Amino acid sequence: QVRTAAAPPAARDRHAELAELIEEANWRYYVLDSPTVSDAEYDAWMREIRELEERYPDLRTPDSPTQKVGGAISTEFTPVTHLRRLESLDNAFSDEDLAAWHARIQRLYGADVGPFLCELKIDGLAVALVYENGRLVRAATRGDGRTGEDITPNIRTIRNVPHRLTGDGVPSLLEVRGEVFLPVEGFRRLNEQLLDAGKQPFANPRNAAAGSVRQKDPRVTAQRPLKMIVHGVGVWEGGDPPESQSAVYERLRELGLPVSERYRVVEDLGGIREYIAYYREHRHDPEYEIDGVVAKVDRIAVQRALGSTSRAPRWAIAFKYPPEEVTTKLLDIQVGV
Ligand code: NAD
Repeated sequence: QVRTAAAPPAARDRHAELAELIEEANWRYYVLDSPTVSDAEYDAWMREIRELEERYPDLRTPDSPTQKVGGAISTEFTPVTHLRRLESLDNAFSDEDLAAWHARIQRLYGADVGPFLCELKIDGLAVALVYENGRLVRAATRGDGRTGEDITPNIRTIRNVPHRLTGDGVPSLLEVRGEVFLPVEGFRRLNEQLLDAGKQPFANPRNAAAGSVRQKDPRVTAQRPLKMIVHGVGVWEGGDPPESQSAVYERLRELGLPVSERYRVVEDLGGIREYIAYYREHRHDPEYEIDGVVAKVDRIAVQRALGSTSRAPRWAIAFKYPPEEVTTKLLDIQVGV
C-alpha cells in the first residue's frame, strides 16, 4: 500500500497562501466584477494549488478552492437555489492534457465515448434560465453552483433571450444554461462612453458583461448590447428530451433559444484537435471573446455514465488557448482614450 506523506509546513503555508489569494480573486471577479489579476495569473495559482494537493492529498479539504465552483454571491440580489447544480469545467492547457482526458474517459467508460461536440468557450457570465410551460420565469447567475443571484428583470432586457418558447413540443419545465456576453464591438463602445463620462472603464468584455447584468437597475442593463448563447440543459421535463448534445442544441434552436452556429460534431480526438487548431487561427472571427474550446461527449447516455466530480463533469473539457489578453486589453483601453 502506498502511503502519502503529510504535507510539510512549507507546503501547508504555501497552500494556505494560495487559497487566500484565490478566494480574494474570486470575490473581486465574481462579486465586484473587477478583477485585479489576469486570468493567466489566476490559472497559474490554481495549477500550483492542484499540484500541491496531488502531492499531499491531506491538503485537499472540502473547502479548498479546487473543490468548489466559482465564488461568493452578493447580498445585493435575492438568492436562488438552482433546480440542478451548475458546474464548472476542467481545463486542458496542452495537447497532453487533452489526450490524458480522452484516455481517462475511454478507460472509465470501457468503450468508445465518441462522437464529440466541439464549441467555443465564450468568455462571458454563466446564467441559468428557467422556462415553465414555455414562459421565462427565472434567470440566475451561477454563483457557487447551488445558489445563484436572481437577475430575472435584467435578463429580460436581453434582446435575443425569448420570454416565451415557440414551436412544437414545448417542455413543461426547462432549465437551460449559457453565457451572457457583450460583443467586442459593444464593449469598445461602452468603454468609450464610460471614459467620456469620466468613469472607470471595464478591464475586458467578460467583466463588462457581468457588470452590466448585475445592475440593481435593469434600465441600465437594457442600454447595454448584451447577448446570450445557450450551451447546456439542467432540467428537461415533458416533450421528449433529445439523446445527444447536438440534438439538444437543434431542439433549443427550434424553441427559439439562441444557440451557437459554430459548434461541430467530430468523431474522435483527431477531430477535436482540428477544431482547436482552426480556432487558434480564427480566434477573433466570432463577435465575442473566447478563451478556448470546449469538447463534450455528444451522447447523453455516455455523459450520464461518466457523471461529474465535485465541481465539473467528466464528459467535458475546456481547452484554454494561451493568453493574449494583456496586450489586447491595454490596446482596448488606449483606443477608448
Ligand atoms: P471556466 O471559466 O474555466 O469554465 C466553466 C465555465 O465556462 C462554465 O461555467 C460555463 O458557463 C462557461 N462556458 C463558456 N462557454 C461554454 C460552453 N461552450 N460550454 C460549457 N461551458 C461554457 O471556469 P469558472 O469556474 O467559471 O472560472 C474560472 C476561470 O475564471 C479561471 O480559469 C479564470 O480564467 C477566471 N477567473 C479569473 C479571476 C481573476 O481574478 N482574474 C478570478 C476568478 C476566475
